[in-house]
Amino acid sequence: MNRKAIIGVHCDACYERHDTGPGHPESADRYRVLREALESLPPEIVRLPGRTATVAEVLQAHEAYYHDVVYRDVAACADVLRTGDTALCGESYEVALEASGAVLAAVDAVMRGEVARAFCAVRPPGHHATANRGMGFCIFNHIAIAANYLRRKHGLQRIAIVDWDVHHGNGTQDIFAADPGVFFVSLHERGAYPFSGSEEERGEGEGSGTTLNLPLPHGSGGEVALAAWDERAGPALEAFRPEFVLVSAGFDARKDDPLGGLKWEDGTFAEFTRRVVALAEKHAAGRVVSSLEGGYNPPGLASAALAHVAALG
Ligand SMILES: [Zn+2]
Repeated sequence: MNRKAIIGVHCDACYERHDTGPGHPESADRYRVLREALESLPPEIVRLPGRTATVAEVLQAHEAYYHDVVYRDVAACADVLRTGDTALCGESYEVALEASGAVLAAVDAVMRGEVARAFCAVRPPGHHATANRGMGFCIFNHIAIAANYLRRKHGLQRIAIVDWDVHHGNGTQDIFAADPGVFFVSLHERGAYPFSGSEEERGEGEGSGTTLNLPLPHGSGGEVALAAWDERAGPALEAFRPEFVLVSAGFDARKDDPLGGLKWEDGTFAEFTRRVVALAEKHAAGRVVSSLEGGYNPPGLASAALAHVAALG
């Protein structure tokens, strides 16, 4: 392909309405710095609108009981979600629906061919949320909802989820552990929150072999992670032949992140992005949608995310 691919980006000040309280690392301020950086991107980058996810869409990855817990906790003005360490405010339920909906809107834009690939800057993040439990700053698991939406609405059968957040994507792994149609790859810091994601966790039942965890040593740099990808994840994903690649794009593996213990450079995120794009070009008609997860040093988050977006093209 000689022509440069059309890339979409979604960001919106609506996500700043999710107020996690003073001193919280997953803050509206963190998001604002990223949003302003994305708003300065050149006009060739297509601005994608969001939308509100329906409850039925949320239930593609979550139990109705858990959806109702979120709704009721927010309605009751709880400060923290009862299932885990996720701060809430009166807007959190609505904002979480916006975040899931934006990822689905980006998936639709890619499936319609309006853009080749897209990055969705949304919050709260999603990858720690299981079918019945929010935790780790997450409420609804946007990437998991999108994977099931791609299969149910768009009729795809094989979805790859690449999670390079510094923390293990336990929620996504849990939702798809027994599901052979979703290949989940997580690169994360060994021994960090949420203390899951060992190499022995390879999936269950029919999904045995479609979970791949690559825990990385504390303090290691991008070259260690890229080597792990090239040795393990790349060949496994090639064999899986995904029809769409979703990315849980956390940027907290970057050096100087207050919650992460890895030392990736902005260029590491660009390298991972290029590998994902090459995989998608080969098997998935180039289709990639990434969704923001962590990243808690605001200027570092912004520069790493810009490197990611540049490498999507
Ligand atoms: Zn994280």
